[in-house]
Parts: sequence; structure tokens; C-alpha cells
Amino acid sequence: MPRIHQLPHSVITKIAAGEVIERPASVVKELLENAVDAGSTRIDIDIEQGGTELIRVVDNGCGIQADDLTLAFSSHATSKLTSADDLFRVTTLGFRGEALASIGGVAQVTLQSRPESAEHGSEVFCNGGELSPIKAWNGTPGTRIEVRNLFFNTPVRRKFLRTVSTEFSHIDETFTRLSLAHAEMHLTLRHNNKVVYEVPQTATLLDRIGLFFGKDVRDRLFEVDQIAGPIHLRGFIADPAIERGTAKMQYLFINGRWIRDRSLGHAVQEAYRNLLMTGRYAVAFLFLDMPPEMVDVNVHPTKSEVRFRDAQALYHLMLSTVRDRLRREDLTARLHAPKVREGEMAASFATSGWSLTAPEPPAPPLPFDAPPLSVVDRIVQLPEGNAPLPPLPPRVSAVAPAAPELPPSTALEAAFNAGSKTAAAPPALPAPGVALKAIQLYDAYLVLETPEGMLVIDQHALHERILFEHFKRRIREGHLETQPLLVPEPIDLPPEQTARALEHKDALAELGLQIEDFGGGTLLLRSYPAILGNKSPQATLKAVVDHLVAKDRPPTREHLLNDLLSLMACHAAVRSGDRLTPEEISSLIAQRSLAENTHHCPHGRPTSLLFSKHELDRQFRRV
Ligand code: ADP
Ligand code: MG
Repeated sequence: MPRIHQLPHSVITKIAAGEVIERPASVVKELLENAVDAGSTRIDIDIEQGGTELIRVVDNGCGIQADDLTLAFSSHATSKLTSADDLFRVTTLGFRGEALASIGGVAQVTLQSRPESAEHGSEVFCNGGELSPIKAWNGTPGTRIEVRNLFFNTPVRRKFLRTVSTEFSHIDETFTRLSLAHAEMHLTLRHNNKVVYEVPQTATLLDRIGLFFGKDVRDRLFEVDQIAGPIHLRGFIADPAIERGTAKMQYLFINGRWIRDRSLGHAVQEAYRNLLMTGRYAVAFLFLDMPPEMVDVNVHPTKSEVRFRDAQALYHLMLSTVRDRLRREDLTARLHAPKVREGEMAASFATSGWSLTAPEPPAPPLPFDAPPLSVVDRIVQLPEGNAPLPPLPPRVSAVAPAAPELPPSTALEAAFNAGSKTAAAPPALPAPGVALKAIQLYDAYLVLETPEGMLVIDQHALHERILFEHFKRRIREGHLETQPLLVPEPIDLPPEQTARALEHKDALAELGLQIEDFGGGTLLLRSYPAILGNKSPQATLKAVVDHLVAKDRPPTREHLLNDLLSLMACHAAVRSGDRLTPEEISSLIAQRSLAENTHHCPHGRPTSLLFSKHELDRQFRRV
């Protein structure tokens, strides 16, 4: 029969250390947090061999008194809170009193410190939990802590460490988070005696973002600043073109602390809905400040997750702030050419989703007497300014696959006038009175001369987005034009699909698709959205039902409408490969300037790319 016994102190510390100290970066995080809590304005960090050999953190904070030095290494010893109530209004990064005890238990630590007022400082050495006597130390005010040979007495842990560069990359990330969270601080990071970052006190948040993530990110950020009662949300969100394959670049800080939060991360993604392709993530640097009693930080050993008193209100604040900010921007993707070597011409898209990472090979030189390249189908002179648009030719063809109808421009115009005025009109169209040239290429793209540069439009993506916004607005206003069928159309579907369609009968009715159960797996379609024109309502209904069946969980009403709308918009829009008449081209382009959010299609693909005049001039060495 195994007997119960009290564990020796050394084992207890190692167990505790296991929770907090996973790798060198965890040590760096704890030491940096202590330096911040000490009120430092400057912190210098030296790392050797990814932190496995040495981690040294020197700060100019308040220091520790000689009598407190040994206490600093005992567990549950802290200067940051005194009563249990304090746990619910934590204003410091640390409060558990466990970090130094844990680090001291699994490494060889020298702690030297001097409070500003003290005549001289003192030092103590902690060797795997064993403390040396305290000695005098002759240093400047502040604290200097050296952690050597991490996990020297826990060989298994040491074996789990990865390569020097991997361990250092974690430290780099820890440093980045702290530098962003405390943009008022001077910070330096050195690895193996080489300076990795030197962040002066004067570097603003934006400067720091530029330093850590590059100019591409820094130059494509939009500032947000929103106050809701006691809560302040501020920071920067990136143009959707700067998206990433993971959510790692969604930085979130609560009261100066970096945290992970699924719900708030979801709110950010939700705000970018229809601007990003599936599986892509927005980039954001967001700071929430609130009274400490509104957030419980005592839920996770490394304090990287928190609990909010009113998570729902925060979710909505985040969603609406980010969404409204994005609506104010013109998000037309801009084409940027990289620096080219002499004699070589290359272009690539700045947006990662679209980037041609390797520069295009230079085009072979044309034979001397080659005929001029010609891909121009037609040139259209657009009406000036907001002059009435030419009517679209009526289409009643039944046999041949007819070019689809564009929504009547007057309806769109009316909708626009009634709709939100906050959306920025895309600036890429010329001012009234300036004529504008457009051509259709490959029956798929429209190329347009604008004052800003050459705009290339994907006709399907743009029309899809215009229809999507149009549907959405009409539904919101409660008057989506529906076309009743004089004779209801019976539609046969597999039983599962019939059942699923009937389940969502109300949502479908909102979309103008009125259905009824006819029994025996047959549905009766009574009406369809007028905007579908001569697209088959049955085909649209079938596509919509297919989509419903593909969902494993019942979607929320809002998601459902959103999905179905984008599906219907896709169905009704002109296709790539459709040759457009000059009237259709001008109508489409005119609608671009009338509708909101036309820079991305509902699936998040850009609808247009801008190759700026300046970029053209630069590429042809005119400037
Ligand atoms: P906590 O930060 O949770 O209080 P720690 O184990 O990290 O626990 O630190 C214990 C105590 O040591 C802190 O409460 C603080 O008083 C003191 N301390 C640690 N590092 C520093 C520092 N760099 N400057 C001043 N005091 C420090
Ligand atoms: Mg601490």
C-alpha cells in the first residue's frame, strides 16, 4: 500500500515552475513584467544562445531593499497585493509572487538591486532554489537580474528545448508584445552580443509596428479610437490586403497586458467578414483600457487569458468599432511594383493573397517588325459626372445564354441616397466633368483611366459585390422586389434538402424565395427576387439549398442571410467570359461609385486593382 507523504520543498518549486516557466521566453516575459511593474523607463535585455545560457535584464525601476531580496525568491511573496480583494482590482502585470521563486528553482540566478534612495545596493545568488547570503553591491539604482543555465537541474525539461533560433524567436515575440504594450519605454534586445532591437522612448506605437513588422504593414493601417463608458478601445487595424494565414498578428492588450481572447478575436474577424477569403486573418493592434475591476486576470498561470465581467458588451464594441472604421476606407487594392534592377521589369501585388512573390520574368523582346499588341475590345466614353445613365437594353431572350441584367441604375441610385452616407465614395473615379475611358479585356476585366492611375476591375467580382450590397440594403429597408410566379413552380429535391429548405423557410422568404411544402419531397416556389432577371429561379433555389445542407451546424439568421445573399449575388452577376455592351460597361462602372464596399467581392476577393500613375511613371523611368 503506497503511503502519503509531504513533498520536499525543492520538488514543490519544480512542479510550480513547470506551470509558469516553459521555456526561456517565459523567463524573459516574467522579468520584463517585473521591470515594468517597478516603474522602469528603460530596460536592457541580453540573451545568449536563445536564452539557454544567459538571460540578463537590467532596469532603472524602483529597486528592491536589501532585507527583501531573499523574500523575492520565496513563493507567494509579492509586494503587489495584500488582500484577496486586491485580486479583483489588479493594476500590475504580476501579482502571484511566483515568478522569481519558480525561476530560482530551475536556474542559477543572480539578483542585484538598489532602490534610488539607498546608498548602495545588495545582491543575492540563487542556485536551483538554494540562496546565498546577501552581499553589498555597487551598482546604479534599479535592478539587474541574470538567469544562467535554465533547467540545469531538470534535465528532461532541458531536453525539450528547441534550437537556439526557435527559442530566440519566442523571446523576440515576447519582446515585441511588451514593446507594443508599453510604447512609453526605452527597450533594447541583444542576442549573442548583437543588437536585435533598439527601441527608443520616443518611438511611437506606429514606429514600433513599423520596426517589428515592416513598412508594408505600418503604411496600411487605420487608426481606431472609441470610448464606450469606462472602456477605451484604441489602436490600429490593417487594410484587408495585409491579411495573414494565422491570427498571430491580431495583437490584443488589456490594460497594458498582452492577452489571447477567442471571443474578441472572433469579433475582429467578423468585422472583416466579406473582406477576407476564408482561412485568412486580419492584422490588428488593439488596446482595451478599462477599470481593473472589470477584468479578472487571475484565471491562467501565465496570465495570458482573462475573464471579462461583460464579455458581450466588449464583443459588440470591438465588432462595431472595427467594422465602422473599415467602412470609412476606400479599400481598392493597390498594385505596387517592387524595386527593379536595371533593365528588368517586374510587377507584383502588395497584397499577400495576390502576391506574385517571385517577380515576373521579363517579357521577351518583341521581334522588330512584330504587329502592335492589341487586346482592346472597345473604348467607351462614360457619361460625365452623375449624368443619367444610359438605359440597359431589355433582355428577354429565352434560348441563347443571355448576358445577365444589371440592376436598374435608378433603383441603385435611390438606394444609395437612402443608404448610409458614412461610406467613403471610391476616390478612384474622376470628378464630375472629367471624361473617363474604359475598355473590356478578355471579356473579364475592365480597364479604366482614373486621375489616380490605371484601375483594373474584375467584372464578375465587382458586379457580385454591387448586387450583394443592393440586396442587403433592400432587405434592410424591407423592400426587396419580388416577382410572384403566376403558376407556382414545383421543385423536386431529395428529402433531406426539402426538409432543410423548409426549416429555413422564413429566411428564404426574406430573400424573396417563397416556398411551400407540396408533400412527397416536392416544394412549391411561389416567388423569387426580381433582381435575378432571367436567371432560373429553380437553379438559384437549388444552389441555396445545397449550401444549407453543406452546413453542419444551423447558422445564425445573420450568417445565413449573408451567405445566401452572396450566393444569389454570385448567381445573378455577369460572369467572367461575358462580353458586355458599352452601356453595360458604363453602367457597371457608374454603379461602382454609387455602392458601398465595392472594393472586395462578398467572398473577400478584391474587385479592382489600382496601378497608380506614379507607379507607371516610375516603371518607365519618367520620374
Ligand atoms: P510578482 O511579480 O507576482 O509579485 P515575482 O516573483 O515576479 O512576483 O517578484 C516578487 C517580488 O519581487 C515582486 O513583488 C517585487 O516586489 C520584487 N521584484 C521582482 N523584480 C523586480 C524588479 N525588477 N524591480 C523591483 N522589484 C522587483
Ligand atoms: Mg512578477
